[in-house]
Amino acid sequence: MFEKILIANRGEIALRIQRACREMGIKTVVVHSTADTEAKYVKLADESVCIGPPPSKESYLNIPAIISAAEVTDSQAIHPGYGFLSENADFGERVEKSGFVFIGPRPETIRLMGDKVSAKDAMKAAGVPCVPGSDGLLPDEPREIVKIARSIGYPVIIKATAGGGGRGMRIVHTEAALLNAVQTTRSEAQAAFGNPGIYMEKFLENPRHIEIQVLADSFRNAVYLGERDCSMQRRHQKVIEEAPAAELNPRLIARIGERCAEACRKITYRGAGTFEFLFEKGEFFFIEMNTRVQVEHPVTELITGIDIVQQQIRIAAGQKLAFRQRDIQFKGHAVECRINAEDPYKFTPCPGKILNWHTPGGPGIRVDSHVYSGYTVPSNYDSMIGKLIAYGDTRDQAIMRMRIALSEMLVDGIKTNIPLHQELMLDANFIKGGTSIHYLEQKLAARQEVVKAR
Ligand code: ADP
Repeated sequence: MFEKILIANRGEIALRIQRACREMGIKTVVVHSTADTEAKYVKLADESVCIGPPPSKESYLNIPAIISAAEVTDSQAIHPGYGFLSENADFGERVEKSGFVFIGPRPETIRLMGDKVSAKDAMKAAGVPCVPGSDGLLPDEPREIVKIARSIGYPVIIKATAGGGGRGMRIVHTEAALLNAVQTTRSEAQAAFGNPGIYMEKFLENPRHIEIQVLADSFRNAVYLGERDCSMQRRHQKVIEEAPAAELNPRLIARIGERCAEACRKITYRGAGTFEFLFEKGEFFFIEMNTRVQVEHPVTELITGIDIVQQQIRIAAGQKLAFRQRDIQFKGHAVECRINAEDPYKFTPCPGKILNWHTPGGPGIRVDSHVYSGYTVPSNYDSMIGKLIAYGDTRDQAIMRMRIALSEMLVDGIKTNIPLHQELMLDANFIKGGTSIHYLEQKLAARQEVVKAR
């Protein structure tokens, strides 16, 4: 096992990884920008290295600075967390070339899965069902594009092969709008991702977002840790996640889960990963794979009792998975609310000083956050300041505990989306379960209408 791991991330996930390491007796090095110098988790780490000024480009995305920090601290491995460099194959390569272990898949795998068209091709070949769409990248020839859209049937969605974070996508409802949309998405993709490659998919009108968590070691052992439902989204960003998904037949999950595990064996996947699917009318359609730990991993940890971050570290250290599929038991239900520093109605970010921070507790409550009273949320990064996770024997109990937890939680000084979560935990359709990925947007639009009418 490693003696010292460098954590190349910030915020709640930096603290989460640090906790996993400490439990395993591994020393931690946290790298940070000048905006995070005062953060408590930085002080809690065995060592910390300032790697640059607040802008991510000059600190958390600064590969040479991170590698030098690993060198001067004599770290053995680097955990990238999520976001930042976690899905950057070049970073993985540089880490390994410099003699450190990258806690994640092999760089080739990250590259394969980071390009959505090649990922889809690999999944098709491995027998994972995909959204019907263009066979690879769209050609330049307009007539060909029109033909492809007709054969798929409207509405279609044009997506950048290098896209991510919900960006680089455009829905097209009619042939009249097609070529313009293709042109715009292509130029946006070039500008945003430096890659003009785009492809086309059938736009599913009412799907749920269901994803499968996997773990795979370097010996071709792979298991799935069940599913998560992340359908509650705003602008393609997840707001609430839960495990298991409400009203979903466990046999269906077992079938798709086994396909995912098999795909991992086929592509010799290593580490933790997530297969994201759209689920409509009883069918799964693969959209992309995330080759890292995800924000929503705690809900899976709570229903399986498996520490996903520790598993990532064990796998990276060359250990075999200590369990097989049949050893994994799913028990109870977990719901996670992402707590963001933002206006709960307008969604504008709301950084600033937190004057008073009080977190809930009690049976089944987990809070993953690096925040404390007196902490200043920097304006340079993502607005998520923590995650509130509630576990119960049943979905109803988990939701009830979440309501209580939200009512106990206190954040003074800045605005947060807690009022939105409180509203959603009382929403009849959420309580019923199984809402589509468009539900939240529709609900918010209706709320906007009410505000206007007043
Ligand atoms: P990103 O990498 O940017 O997150 P994804 O391919 O995972 O992109 O898609 C993000 C979200 O966009 C999905 O969760 C879903 O809400 C929507 N989406 C993507 N593809 C489709 C599709 N074919 N039909 C309907 N919605 C889609």
